[in-house]
Amino acid sequence: MQEDVLSMSKHPVVLIPGDGIGPEVTAATQRVLAAAAAPIEWIVCQAGLAALAQGDDVLPQSTLDAIERCRIALKGPCTTPVGEGFTSVNVQLRKRLMLYAAVRPVRNLEGVPTRFAGIDLIIVRENTEGLYSGVENQVTDDVVMSMKIATQTACTRIAHWAFRFATQRRRRKITVFHKANIMKMTDGLFLRTARQAHQHEYPNIDYQEMIIDAGCMKLVQDPTQFDVLLLENLYGDVVSDLCAGLVGGLGVVPGANYGERGAVFEAVHGSAPDIAGQGVANPLALLMSAVMKLNHIAEDMDDRECGIIAERIKSAYNRALQDSEKTRDLGGSLGTEAFASAVIERLR
Ligand code: NAD
Repeated sequence: MQEDVLSMSKHPVVLIPGDGIGPEVTAATQRVLAAAAAPIEWIVCQAGLAALAQGDDVLPQSTLDAIERCRIALKGPCTTPVGEGFTSVNVQLRKRLMLYAAVRPVRNLEGVPTRFAGIDLIIVRENTEGLYSGVENQVTDDVVMSMKIATQTACTRIAHWAFRFATQRRRRKITVFHKANIMKMTDGLFLRTARQAHQHEYPNIDYQEMIIDAGCMKLVQDPTQFDVLLLENLYGDVVSDLCAGLVGGLGVVPGANYGERGAVFEAVHGSAPDIAGQGVANPLALLMSAVMKLNHIAEDMDDRECGIIAERIKSAYNRALQDSEKTRDLGGSLGTEAFASAVIERLR
């Protein structure tokens, strides 16, 4: 195909800077995408503490409307108060837009040596229900309760999504982590729907079930034995951070939340209040999420140029890491902007 027939139009993408290290890592990511001439028109919207500071709702309707219009967003982390205060804006966003499938690719990066080599696994997390919904009640003065909700609809939807995804990506095996020996009804339903999807529609993919405690032990003993992990909401949250630790930490694991009404790309990490405002956060996880977003545009909107730019950015950050241009969390000494500059210098 000639260069001149490649798409020249810009794709509108909602950008939510978030709070904590969010504005720092989103600014660095935007700078790399601009240097790579990614055809993106940013529509900046707020959510979380930043929205509250502007006198708006924690999740403004205007932000939801913009994502529904554009169908794609890149989101920085949003703080959730611990043990009090408003319910998680991240959970609200996923529920309101029905972004039911979270995907987190966990891979070794050249230039980031870790205990294990050859890790290449993908976490698929159900994003809308389970204990993570935060449905809690005060039952008596002495008793509080948290409800774990599982529906046939959501369990079936994520099971089919995971097997279809694994098939499209030419993966070989799905392992479901569960605790159905104890939570026989909720985790039992999750397991049953996964089994049915495998038996009736996707016998092409190997299928394995593992009780989550044993699964975690096997993950830290030899993560290379896993391919795609399918988990309900809370397990997916916890195991994502565990897996991040296997490949260098939260600074290197990107993510995407997919649903019928759009896709929101965000790093696995949170707002990191311990390092916010210091200019030292690693922007790579968000940059990798932006690369996932470009690949999504390439596939979904048939824009080959976005796929090419995604590959250029990926090669550039890989080269930067190989040249030991790293942020502090990876054992280097670069700040957020200096790492972004090191990536930009290596764009070809
Ligand atoms: P966190 O992921 O923010 O930080 C955990 C540790 O990893 C910290 O030591 C932090 O400094 C480090 N870290 C995280 N990202 C990093 C980066 N890019 N570069 C270098 N170091 C990095 O988790 P937390 O401290 O448990 O949570 C802080 C807040 O973030 C909480 O309010 C939580 O609810 C929120 N959170 C939001 C999201 C989201 O917006 N999707 C996800 C997780 C947590």
